[in-house]
Amino acid sequence: PPPASLPPPASLPPPGELAAALAALAAPINRVPGVGPKRAQELVRFGLGTVENLLYHLPFRYEDRRIVTRLGELVIGSDATTEGEVAGVRQAVVGRTRRRLLEVVLRDGPSAVLLVWFNQVQYFAQRFVPGQRLLVHGRVEPPIGNGPNRIVHPDVVVLDDEDAASRAAIVPVYEKPTGMPVGVMRRLVHAALEAYGHRLPAALPPAVVARQRVLDPARALRYLHTPPNEASVEALNAQRSYAHHSLAFDELFFLQLGLALRRSAAGRAPGTAFPASTRLAPALRAALPFRLTAAQDRAVAEIEADLAEPHPMRRLLQGDVGSGKTLVGLLAALTVVEQGHQAAFMAPTELLAEQHHATIAALAAPLGVRAELLTGAVRGRARREVLHGLASGQVDIVVGTQALIQEGVEFHRLGLAVVDEQHRFGVLQRAAWQRREGEGGGLDVLVMSATPIPRTLALTLYGDLAVSTLDELPPGRTPIATEVRRAARRDVVHQRLREEVARGHQAYVVYPLVEESEKSELRAATTMVRELAAGPLAGLRLALLHGRMRADEKDDVMRRFKAHEFDVLVSTTVIEVGIDVPNATVIVIEHAERFGLAQLHQLRGRVGRGRARGWCYLIAPDWMHEDTFKRLRVLERTTDGFRIAEADLELRGPGDFLGTRQAGLPPLRVANLMRDTALLRAARDEALAWLEADPDLSRPESAAVRAVLAHRWAGRLELAEVG
Ligand code: ADP
Ligand code: MG
Repeated sequence: PPPASLPPPASLPPPGELAAALAALAAPINRVPGVGPKRAQELVRFGLGTVENLLYHLPFRYEDRRIVTRLGELVIGSDATTEGEVAGVRQAVVGRTRRRLLEVVLRDGPSAVLLVWFNQVQYFAQRFVPGQRLLVHGRVEPPIGNGPNRIVHPDVVVLDDEDAASRAAIVPVYEKPTGMPVGVMRRLVHAALEAYGHRLPAALPPAVVARQRVLDPARALRYLHTPPNEASVEALNAQRSYAHHSLAFDELFFLQLGLALRRSAAGRAPGTAFPASTRLAPALRAALPFRLTAAQDRAVAEIEADLAEPHPMRRLLQGDVGSGKTLVGLLAALTVVEQGHQAAFMAPTELLAEQHHATIAALAAPLGVRAELLTGAVRGRARREVLHGLASGQVDIVVGTQALIQEGVEFHRLGLAVVDEQHRFGVLQRAAWQRREGEGGGLDVLVMSATPIPRTLALTLYGDLAVSTLDELPPGRTPIATEVRRAARRDVVHQRLREEVARGHQAYVVYPLVEESEKSELRAATTMVRELAAGPLAGLRLALLHGRMRADEKDDVMRRFKAHEFDVLVSTTVIEVGIDVPNATVIVIEHAERFGLAQLHQLRGRVGRGRARGWCYLIAPDWMHEDTFKRLRVLERTTDGFRIAEADLELRGPGDFLGTRQAGLPPLRVANLMRDTALLRAARDEALAWLEADPDLSRPESAAVRAVLAHRWAGRLELAEVG
């Protein structure tokens, strides 16, 4: 509920000034008073490039300085605010590393405390002079030797400089560029608030505001940057204050509104109606040595219904590793092929495209359906033939990477795009597909994702897509046994690996990308393969696979591994997705702590694809923290991709997990998709209700909503879709 005393309403720009206000907010950071060229550069590098960025840069914690403790009464170990007079300022160089530090003696009568800085020594040395009165806040630490108690890196207010308000207050603390003192960051945010805060528009429809009882952004931000003394520090620190709640709702409302517009634009746009396949799809089903799972049947039915509509399909097919998505995609492709159209499959890597193509071509050929591969590795004559076949319509299905859309490939009649997302393709790329729409109307798009995400999140991240879920694995699979092991026990794992190889099976050993640079990735994997060959895996046939190999080299290694010319494939994460070698039964993942749970789950899906039981060993360093170890153990307990995704989200947050930026959505600065599910639902309902009444936001009462929507989604939402 709203607190009893709200800050007074900020004056809001009248509608006519809305555009000017939004432009002012989008202005570069150097417009903020006090931001010079040097600070501007630091802030831009820190990701705060505009006035609005700075306004929405919320404190990550708050210090309670409402109670000032007398210097003589400080308790060691406590976080305290205290006040005193500078009695001395001294720079020193200490230790073998010749580290510079700054010491300031603060006095109050007979009591003293030593303030210590190891960073920005120069800056602080200039700031303090004997006789100044300081209000300091920090953790009280015990003295060294006979000296006074110490506070390292205290937050300091020079009392003569600052207004009385900051003397005893709830003080916000901001994340900041490394070289910038905390106080400077705070001053700049406050300068932005003073100069621009009042221009933040209140765009939510009044009826929505009344129902949801939310504060407008201007007042909410003022509350969060300069909390009143009666605010609850606990609520602020938990990001559960009324102002947080209001801003989160505001963000989610515009997020859902944009997504809904995208969806309805696709739903109303003209497209091709493809009746259900009566020839090709039944023939494929009849040729399969197994029956579709109930989940596959359901997904196929949902897709068929979409395809039969004279509007473009926008559907996400999500399902765990091995749930049989490819087959569902192929059945969709056959539906459009039967009507004389073409289908394109887009994979995230060349290797995957090649493998997808192998699977699809083998199933399609007996039906008289021609499927070709088109990646960067297909060159010369072969390439010309594929391109010609696509332009003339002789090629029915093409499998490739995103190069398919980037290089202006001509299609005779493209009807369906199947995008294997693997969370690397975002909405932006999907939009690129949509822009390629031919005369026949919008293209049908099926996005496939092997990272199952909880439904609430799917609604948000893919709010513009309908969702089909394969929540069932084909029968006859033995679950993979997973064990987390400390590095010290690696010999036991290698022993297990050798046993499996002795039984005629194969294994993977996976190393993470150790550093950003691909060079070091190469070195890590190459060095390791030699060490393994010389030591624990001596005598086994080892092969190496890494991201820097040429596509044809990778393909060659994979083919030979599949043909069992090697026992062990030592690789970087290039095997993460899609590789299918049923004889492989063991996967050893080194430095498992560096991966997300969902990614580890994907990796282990490389084994247990045949009849034999699969084993996954997650190796974690000996020094690793117990919590991280426990996190990995989630994988020992469950093989349910949805549960794992949920655990991952709780631990790492959705940003890390899928990257909302990458997905082409506006950044969420306040809302947390995992925590704020109820709010998300409310925002979605309100957004849909608003669109129900005004589907293209053309009514005058939608003017502000429309302007702010376009502003928030800047470039991510085709304005044409907005009406
Ligand atoms: P995904 O792409 O969802 O990870 P795939 O499409 O690669 O899964 O399917 C994994 C394996 O399961 C493939 O070898 C595929 O032929 C097989 N498969 C697919 N559907 C079924 C089914 N209904 N019954 C048995 N096996 C299936
Ligand atoms: Mg697959």
